[in-house]
Amino acid sequence: MQIHENFPLKSYNTFSIDARARFFNQFSSVDELEEYLMLYSQYPIFILGGGSNILFTKDYDGTVLKNNIRGIDLQHEDAEYVYVKVGAGENWHQFVLHCINHNWAGIENLSLIPGNIGAAPIQNIGAYGVELDEVFWSLEAFHLQERRIHTLTAADCEFGYRDSVFKNRYKDQFAILSVTFQLKKKPVYHVSYGAITEELEKMGVRELNIKAVSQAVINIRSSKLPDPEKIPNSGSFFKNPEVPTEKYEALKLQFPNIVAYPLAKGTVKLAAGWMIEQCGWKGYRKGDVGCHAKQALVLVNYGNATGKEIYDLSEEILQSVSEKFGVILEREVNII
Ligand SMILES: Cc1cc2nc3c(=O)[nH]c(=O)nc-3n(C[C@H](O)[C@H](O)[C@H](O)COP(=O)(O)OP(=O)(O)OC[C@H]3O[C@@H](n4cnc5c(N)ncnc54)[C@H](O)[C@@H]3O)c2cc1C
Repeated sequence: MQIHENFPLKSYNTFSIDARARFFNQFSSVDELEEYLMLYSQYPIFILGGGSNILFTKDYDGTVLKNNIRGIDLQHEDAEYVYVKVGAGENWHQFVLHCINHNWAGIENLSLIPGNIGAAPIQNIGAYGVELDEVFWSLEAFHLQERRIHTLTAADCEFGYRDSVFKNRYKDQFAILSVTFQLKKKPVYHVSYGAITEELEKMGVRELNIKAVSQAVINIRSSKLPDPEKIPNSGSFFKNPEVPTEKYEALKLQFPNIVAYPLAKGTVKLAAGWMIEQCGWKGYRKGDVGCHAKQALVLVNYGNATGKEIYDLSEEILQSVSEKFGVILEREVNII
C-alpha cells in the first residue's frame, strides 16, 4: 500500500482545481480497501472516481481514496436481458462502447458521460431522455463504518432526478464496489429527445441501431459541451428545478418564452440554463472563472481559477436567478 501525503489533486478532477489531499491512496479490491481502513480509520475518507462531478473549494483534510476496482462480467442472461456486473473503477464511456460491441442495449444515449461506473448511481446519471435507473439491477457497496458489504436494489437506492440515497441518508457512508446492469437484447430506441433524429439523418442512418444512436449522441455532445481536457469543467453545474404547475403558469405570463418540460407527476421542470442565460451570465468571464459561451449551465476554469472562485460565481448566479424568477437552483456538482 502506498500512501501519499500532501497529494496534488489537480489532475484528479476535471475542473483542474489545484487542491491537495492530506493523504491519497488507491485501491483495486475490497481487501485493499479494508487493509487501508484497518490502519488509518482515524481520518475522514473521500471516495474518488473520475473526478468529473466535484468541486474542491479547499484542501481535503483527510484521505482521498481512488477506487480502481476493474472487471466486466456477464453474470447471466434470459430471453430478454443480459445481467452484467461491472467494477466501480471502470470508465463509464468505455463500458458503453463495450455494450455496443456486444449488442447490449439501454445505455447508448448515455455515451460520452465522463467518470466511472461507481459514481453513476450516486447521482443517477442521465442524458438524452435516459437515466441510469432504467438499466440498474443492483450494486455492491462496502459500508465504511460497519466494514461489510451490502447489496442494494434499485428500490434501496431511492433514485430520483440526479439524486439517490447516496447523496442523502447514506452520504459518505459507502464505497460502491460494483454495479450490475440489466441490459436489453432487443433495443428500444429513445431518439425523440434533443437533436438525435436530426443528427441520425445528417449521418445518413437509414436503419436504427445502437451504435448509430451512440455516435449521434457523441456528435451532439462534442459540438455542444466544452471538453474538460481543453476547458476544465464538471458538466452541468446546476440541476433543472422542478416547480408546481401554478408556479410555472405564473412565470409563463411574465416570461412567455420560458423553456420548460411538463412531468408526468404534474410538476414542471424548468430549464436552468435558459434562466441563467436570461440573467446575462452566458459567456461571462471574470479572471479565470466563467460561464460557458455555448452552454450557460456549465461553469468553467479558464486556467488557474480556485474552487472558491467557481463556488462564488455559482452563488452569484443562484442569487440572480432567485431574484428574477423566484426559483432557487440546486447545485448538481458535489462541493467539497
Ligand atoms: C463535460 C461533462 C459532461 C457531463 N455530462 C453529464 C451528463 O450528461 N449527465 C450526467 O448525469 N452527468 C454528467 N456529468 C457529470 C459526471 O460525469 C457524472 O456525475 C459522473 O457519474 C461522475 O463520475 P466520476 O467517477 O467522475 O465521479 P467523481 O466526480 O469522482 O465523484 C462524484 C461523487 O461520487 C462519489 N463517488 C465516486 N465514486 C464512488 C464510489 N465508487 N463509491 C462511493 N462514492 C463514489 C464521490 O465521493 C463524489 O461525491 C458531466 C461531467 C462533465 C465534466
